[in-house]
Amino acid sequence: MVEIYNNYEIKNESTFRIGGIVKKVAFPETVEELIELLKSDEYDIVLGNCSNVLFSSDYIDKSIIITKNINNFSFQGTKLHIECGVKGPIISKECQKRCLSGFEFLIGFPGSFGGMICMNASAHNQYISDTFVSARVFDLNKKEIKTINKNEMEFSYRKSKISNSKYIVLDAEFALKEGTNEQIEEIMKRNIDFRKQHQPSLSYGNAGSIFKNPENDSAGRLLDLCKMKGEKSGGAIVFENHANFILNYNNATSEDVITLMYKMYSTVKEKYTIELQPEIKYIGDKGTKEYKLWETMTENILMTQK
Ligand SMILES: Cc1cc2nc3c(=O)[nH]c(=O)nc-3n(C[C@H](O)[C@H](O)[C@H](O)COP(=O)(O)OP(=O)(O)OC[C@H]3O[C@@H](n4cnc5c(N)ncnc54)[C@H](O)[C@@H]3O)c2cc1C
Repeated sequence: MVEIYNNYEIKNESTFRIGGIVKKVAFPETVEELIELLKSDEYDIVLGNCSNVLFSSDYIDKSIIITKNINNFSFQGTKLHIECGVKGPIISKECQKRCLSGFEFLIGFPGSFGGMICMNASAHNQYISDTFVSARVFDLNKKEIKTINKNEMEFSYRKSKISNSKYIVLDAEFALKEGTNEQIEEIMKRNIDFRKQHQPSLSYGNAGSIFKNPENDSAGRLLDLCKMKGEKSGGAIVFENHANFILNYNNATSEDVITLMYKMYSTVKEKYTIELQPEIKYIGDKGTKEYKLWETMTENILMTQK
């Protein structure tokens, strides 16, 4: 059954644990329920596990669908059919049990398949696009369902045909490779160990990498050279072990995070004439100070799907 809430406090839905009250939020449990909500034309944005978003701490005058309760998947040999709300780490472990390789990288972060396809999530030289075969999507313009194959997906770094488009991923097919349990376990362990050393756990709210890597460089490297580690704004701080992560260490607001991001952005711009682009998506309303700051950092202003 779809749960729908008016004036919903969104903070605890996001891995950043930041956010104010949202006008309306719906949590469908099946793909059919999601399709009905999309047909109703009442919703502005579809999210998965909210692990790559910064919600405004102010009132958000939007209607949002969160797919995290849409949770079915099935394997047939090396083929995987998966619904948009399923989270990566669950499938990483399911693949390991079946000696299937390709999703070892998903063990380390909390994205849903809808979000990961949209962003072409990647880590440790594995990409969602490597094993992707096709997705069924809802076209918000035509109000119809269609299938998009890999060759039409325009996958690139943190981008796909789904990003900033009118398509909502309903479910998808993947083709994995056969491997051995030991090999797969070893890669997963290496990935986890790397994250423990270099990245924050979710005990402090965060949304993964804040800025995208510029071409042939790393945002973390540039921010480190600019001595950003440990920089603070209100309750937000740049992580001591990796300068491209911001932690919500003490009830940070969205304004704290964006003010800190702006400092990171302008320091790198001044020193290296490189304009870092946010990887995270901001969800808020026009007219606020933080909205204006965000606008100066990115052409891709706000994430809206309508
Ligand atoms: C600790 C931590 C580590 C991370 N490490 C990595 C990493 O190594 N590599 C990496 O790539 N990312 C990483 N991330 C970021 C994040 O997990 C990924 O970007 C992930 O793909 C986002 O998935 P989500 O379901 O949370 O998407 P959301 O944050 O909910 O949404 C992200 C985008 O996807 C869109 N979207 C979501 N569902 C759908 C759908 N069904 N149809 C169409 N569009 C949809 C949204 O509209 C939005 O534009 C990390 C995050 C955290 C918190």
